[in-house]
Amino acid sequence: MSNEDTRPSAIRWYYEGLSAGAFRAMRCSACGRLTFPPTGCCEHCGSWSVEGAEISGEGTLLFATHNIAPACHPRFEAIAPYVYGHIRLKEGNIVQAIVLGVEAVPDQLHALFKRGPVPVKAETLTMQDLPVLAFRLAG
Ligand SMILES: [Zn+2]
Repeated sequence: MSNEDTRPSAIRWYYEGLSAGAFRAMRCSACGRLTFPPTGCCEHCGSWSVEGAEISGEGTLLFATHNIAPACHPRFEAIAPYVYGHIRLKEGNIVQAIVLGVEAVPDQLHALFKRGPVPVKAETLTMQDLPVLAFRLAG
C-alpha cells in the first residue's frame, strides 16, 4: 500500500485553467471560503477538505505601484517597468497581480490615484512559457 498522494496538483490545475482563460480557486467544504490562487488546503481555516471552483475574474484595484528593481524573473523584462497592485476580488479575496491598461509613469499612476478604487477584470498574460494572472482596468 502506498502513501503517495494521488490528488491532482492544485498548482498544475490552476495554471492549466489560466492557459485557457479560466480563473480557478479552491472552495473549502469546512468554512465555505475561497482560496485563490488555489493550494491544497484552505488559507482561512487550514482544512484539507477543498474542491475546485471558478471565480468571476472581476475585482477592484485597491493599490498600484511599479517595480524599480529588475523584474523578478527574466521573462518579465519584456514588459518592464510594469504596474502591479492589490486587487480585491468580487468574491472577497485580495490578490497581488500585474495591472494592465496603465503605464508605469508618474502621470498615469497619479491619475489612477485620483480615480480611487478602480474596477478591473482578470486576464491571462502569456509570458514565454508561463501563463500569468493579470488584471486590466475596466470602466
Ligand atoms: Zn476553510
